[in-house]
Amino acid sequence: MADHLPLVSIVCPAYHEEEMLPLFNGELCRVLASLETRYRFEILYVDDGSRDRTLDAMKSAADSDRRVRVLALARNFGKEAALQAGLEHAEGELVITMDTDLQHPPEVIGQLLEKAIEPVDLVITVRQEYQNPNWFNQLGTQTFYRIMRALSEVEIRQETSDFLLMKRKVVTVLLQMPEKHRFLKGLVHWMGFKYAEVPFRPKERPLGQTKFSFLRLTSLAKDCLFSFSKKPLTLATKCGTLTLLVGLACALAALAQMLFQIGDTSLTALYLIVSSHVLAGAILLSIGILGEYVGRIWEQVRSRPSYLLKYDSHQVDGRGQAYQPPHIKVFETTAEDAARKDQQSA
Ligand code: UDP
Ligand code: MG
Repeated sequence: MADHLPLVSIVCPAYHEEEMLPLFNGELCRVLASLETRYRFEILYVDDGSRDRTLDAMKSAADSDRRVRVLALARNFGKEAALQAGLEHAEGELVITMDTDLQHPPEVIGQLLEKAIEPVDLVITVRQEYQNPNWFNQLGTQTFYRIMRALSEVEIRQETSDFLLMKRKVVTVLLQMPEKHRFLKGLVHWMGFKYAEVPFRPKERPLGQTKFSFLRLTSLAKDCLFSFSKKPLTLATKCGTLTLLVGLACALAALAQMLFQIGDTSLTALYLIVSSHVLAGAILLSIGILGEYVGRIWEQVRSRPSYLLKYDSHQVDGRGQAYQPPHIKVFETTAEDAARKDQQSA
């Protein structure tokens, strides 16, 4: 094998993909074969606690291909945790993350690598003309991104995905972040690295079905919202102030009606009921918002790892010991920086 060629790691999380995995692996290997003269590849399959035969499918892919490394999480920790496990074990100087259901087409890998030659730190993919077949989820996603645009400090575009290429320094910085509730797509934008874009047309899933139900998408949306914005907290204060004012106005109106017998006195009870309901709703909502943040602080303080590994094919075939993490320089020094440093030390 040509050791001088750059090593590219392809990180693929999978959960209940026993049907898709062999199909995906075949497609991926076909695409990688056309790029082998310029790159070396490592394929990291991360089984996110599947209870079907996904792990077996991964192991048989590894048996016939030494480029394949299989990691298995102890249980279903979620896609973000599986991605993190893959990134932590990837050795390549370029790392690509992609789904195993062929919705992220492997043939785009060539374009990602081509763009990575440019002086950028990461290459993101931008979905073109894709409608989620489930209109309910599509509507939910659109609403979520609208809220995010209004509340978040970083712009997270709806058409971007976590099918992306990162150079080693981006992976290093990403893994240094101790966050428990990760949202890769948001974090790469938050870091502010220079990026290039590659458009792609997502395909329909050929087999199996999405693992993200409306409830799971809502939980992901909450993770994203509460880890990228403090505004819901201030919103609770504003909402509280408003309902307090409305409540006071209602109370004054009710008092005036009682004292001076103006208007319809039967409205008094209605005022009181409405104002107490509005007030109770606002209080509960604020407590809920506060709870979301406190819950996240609690998880962070508890410091449990984001995932636990139960299997690593490199440990099994003895290659695990040989791996030494490369010395990684995160920040590049430009010629100008070097000259400035020389001037200062002179
Ligand atoms: N996935 C995962 N853990 C999970 C859910 C999903 O590793 O808990 C993987 C899944 O196997 C697939 C990718 O994440 O490779 C995207 O999932 P899916 O296709 O279900 O999501 P969608 O494309 O519908 O957003
Ligand atoms: Mg999918």
